[in-house]
Amino acid sequence: MLELETDVVVVGSGPGGATVARELVRRGRRVVLLERGADERRRFYYGSYLGALLYTDRASLLFTDEGLNVVRPLMLGGATGMYCGCAAPPPAWMKERYGVDLDHEVAEAEAELRVAPLPPEMRGAASTRLAEAASEAGFPFVPQAKFMSPGRAPRFPGACGAHCMLGCRCGAKWNAAEWVDEAVAGGAVLHTRARVDRVTVEGGRATGVEGRRSGRPLRVRAGTVVVAAGGIGSPRLLQASGLAGPGEGLTMDATLMVYGFSRGRGIGGEPPMTWSYEDDAGGYMLSTLVDPWLLYPVMAGLESPRRALTWPRWRNVLGLMVKLKDDVSGGVFPDGRISKPLTPRDRERLGRAEAVCRRILVQAGAEPHSLFATPLRGTHPSGTVRIGTHVDTDLATSVRGLYVCDASVFPEALDRPTVLTILALGKRLAKHLG
Ligand SMILES: Cc1cc2nc3c(=O)[nH]c(=O)nc-3n(C[C@H](O)[C@H](O)[C@H](O)COP(=O)(O)OP(=O)(O)OC[C@H]3O[C@@H](n4cnc5c(N)ncnc54)[C@H](O)[C@@H]3O)c2cc1C
Repeated sequence: MLELETDVVVVGSGPGGATVARELVRRGRRVVLLERGADERRRFYYGSYLGALLYTDRASLLFTDEGLNVVRPLMLGGATGMYCGCAAPPPAWMKERYGVDLDHEVAEAEAELRVAPLPPEMRGAASTRLAEAASEAGFPFVPQAKFMSPGRAPRFPGACGAHCMLGCRCGAKWNAAEWVDEAVAGGAVLHTRARVDRVTVEGGRATGVEGRRSGRPLRVRAGTVVVAAGGIGSPRLLQASGLAGPGEGLTMDATLMVYGFSRGRGIGGEPPMTWSYEDDAGGYMLSTLVDPWLLYPVMAGLESPRRALTWPRWRNVLGLMVKLKDDVSGGVFPDGRISKPLTPRDRERLGRAEAVCRRILVQAGAEPHSLFATPLRGTHPSGTVRIGTHVDTDLATSVRGLYVCDASVFPEALDRPTVLTILALGKRLAKHLG
């Protein structure tokens, strides 16, 4: 039995947990950070297809009851170990509808991480042409801000060209594991391969957590517990700790890829998501993106086997990603099931967004008969422990001393890159906890 005692125990090292841990250590608090995955950054397979199989839940074959494929990385840094590095400020409704003002924290994180679009020459010639075609069609794309900059890595862009989608090896893309490193340098105690099973509660107050580390029992006593295990992990942990409500309802920013082939060069070999467009009223976001080479035939084949045969033309494919502002529906249930049914409004929005993509792709030179959309998938499980429903605006649960800080607290689907919002929530919570 590994037994520890601390001021604050943080569960999960994604952007939520890493930020809270780093900020609290800076404020002089004793912090223990527990992460169920490993630090994969220096493994030979990091950033490769093999890596993506090894460090995602069920080798990326995690599906909801309705067949939506969920990509859930489990490693130090959480999903930022294989994200696209896109940054977007929180939606205005976070402050207007829920009273959560993150302006100051967002500005702080943007300055610290030098958030900015890639320089024009790195946005990809075909992606840029696609964005121009979108603007001509009436959908003004803008350069996508990134947690990625040439100044962060000497080998960047020459060696990698910012193509990475499975894990950044050169260091140009910021990863929440770096803020874990800073927390540890400041005195935090980190245990990887430490899976928390439940929060211990005595007399309505959190007293710590219990779980297993590398298979052996683990107990941490702490006056404050911050659960940051992500949109799927956090509700599961709270359910196992006796809280009713978390996990009822889920948002996903459900994602659709729309593809078409042109005679010219496509965007497959270019950096992902360099240009984006948001339609707040329409409830969707679009971005320039194509699945990585080896993943493409798998995803295309899920639409129909004959689509997989387009693999040899991957270099000519033009692609747009739709992120949908989906309604809260389904949930993450104690029996292990995940459900994410689309509502009639979701289907309507998705239909409109797909039609826009088809228009843009044709405008950009895609052959109309070649257009198709892959089945839905999800990379933003969220909204399972919602502000206003399961936690208050300080991210406190009904159990004293127990807080949640990650994508699960989003009160609605964010419909945009999540990480900047989560970093800001983490900074705000650390201030609250002092
Ligand atoms: C392929 C992909 C691309 C993406 N691209 C972008 C992008 O470009 N920009 C953007 O903003 N967002 C992007 N996202 C989404 C973003 O990365 C996630 O929404 C974000 O990382 C969620 O942060 P989090 O702190 O809520 O949880 P996570 O990042 O999921 O971290 C939770 C951590 O908790 C750990 N954990 C879970 N359960 C336990 C337990 N019981 N005990 C201990 N540890 C536990 C997990 O292993 C994990 O490391 C992308 C996601 C994916 C999958």
